[in-house]
Amino acid sequence: MAKIIESKVIDTSVSTELEACENIAHIHEKNGRIGENAPKFFVQTFGCQQNEADSERLAGLCCAMGYEKASSPEEAELILVNTCAVREHAEKKALSIIGQYKHIKDKNPAVVIGVGGCMVTQKSRADKLKMSYPYVSFTFDTAAIHTVPSLVLNALRGGSRKFILSDEWKINEGVPIHRESKHMAWLSIMYGCNNFCSYCIVPYTRGRERSRSADSIVEEAKMLIADGAKDITLLGQNVNSYNGGDGVDIAELMHRICALPGDFRLRFMTSHPKDASDRLIEAMATEEKIVRHFHLPVQSGSDRILKLMNRKYDTSAYLEKIAKLREAVPDVSITSDIIVGFPGETEEDFEGTLDILSKVRYDMIFSFIYSPRSGTPAASMEDQIPHEVSTARFERMLALQNKISDERNERFLGRTVRVLVEDTSKSNSGMLTGRGDAVRPIHFAGDRSMIGEFVNVKITRATTFCLEGEII
Ligand code: SF4
Repeated sequence: MAKIIESKVIDTSVSTELEACENIAHIHEKNGRIGENAPKFFVQTFGCQQNEADSERLAGLCCAMGYEKASSPEEAELILVNTCAVREHAEKKALSIIGQYKHIKDKNPAVVIGVGGCMVTQKSRADKLKMSYPYVSFTFDTAAIHTVPSLVLNALRGGSRKFILSDEWKINEGVPIHRESKHMAWLSIMYGCNNFCSYCIVPYTRGRERSRSADSIVEEAKMLIADGAKDITLLGQNVNSYNGGDGVDIAELMHRICALPGDFRLRFMTSHPKDASDRLIEAMATEEKIVRHFHLPVQSGSDRILKLMNRKYDTSAYLEKIAKLREAVPDVSITSDIIVGFPGETEEDFEGTLDILSKVRYDMIFSFIYSPRSGTPAASMEDQIPHEVSTARFERMLALQNKISDERNERFLGRTVRVLVEDTSKSNSGMLTGRGDAVRPIHFAGDRSMIGEFVNVKITRATTFCLEGEII
């Protein structure tokens, strides 16, 4: 397990919370709850990579409060749920799991349960938890992660339940990070989004764009590399509009990180096509440490739907960007997010999406059936598409993309690829899995001791969803 990363830059709001951590750790110590007897925490995470990164901060705070990591919620005395709001299904799942935690609280009333993330950043959902889930001690929104220690301290002291909704969106530097993986690391570079795509809840749950300073990010990258990170992903809702001040854009930031000594790779996500700059493409073409994978979500292949989605580009501008990218980085792996069944999507609009799949020939897509999110403009648009129509379109699109993925994957056959061994394969624990300079998982036989190391793998088989090979 990677060690806890403690930042050198600590904002005042965070130092106050670190004092609360010390107070809590002191309470545990006074009660003899240290070492093997230390109380345990469990963080349940839903949603995107940003949430996974936030959960590593929650875990860092829990460790600072004197808790040890539990392997199941039943073992824990502090349970934190980090929720997602991007689709209705994710919210329902989170509420169902929180419902299941009632029996843990019934068995041990001293257990503290807190709920954070995008779902509870919507007042209606925080209110629902307040009214219908009396065993939840507190909620905290996405801007209030650093306040969890005060909330826990209040709960431990028997204070009233708290339901936090921040009115200011700022960056709170200095929250300790308890990393899940030693060799792979998330590195948040910015928060929030200014784009207001008409279907998306993120601008309402994560606030306006704010970028961390380049110095703080480079410092954190240095610590991650020193701690053994070999695959670092720069994270943000729209990393292309990163603005570290003094003209430091995402390209310059990546050049600075690539200049750090060490054998590591750099990825970034997510990108917005309107902001994917020539400078970023050039950085990918020239920096060896940047992985040749560009996730550039098109969402739809219909200009009419893109306008309704408020995406601020059309298909020809998008295809122009793809052409530039392929020219600069010929073997680049391109992936995309696609929404099927957006309100008003006609058969002709959908054919446009199939057309863009055929033109771009993505390595992989992340596709979704449109899910209305209340509070977003698209949710109240007329002409919502019946589920059976969306599902049928979705299936047609997947069939086409699977064929393209098959063909794209075949280009790797016979190649030798430098792979970071990430873990054992989920489908076959006798095999190892990792990724090369692209997005496809690669499976191969090998010893567990290789996890976290780079190895050379010759690709011997390509399927729709993965590659297979042997170490040479
Ligand atoms: S760019 Fe659009 S889809 Fe992405 S987070 Fe911002 S509003 Fe949502």
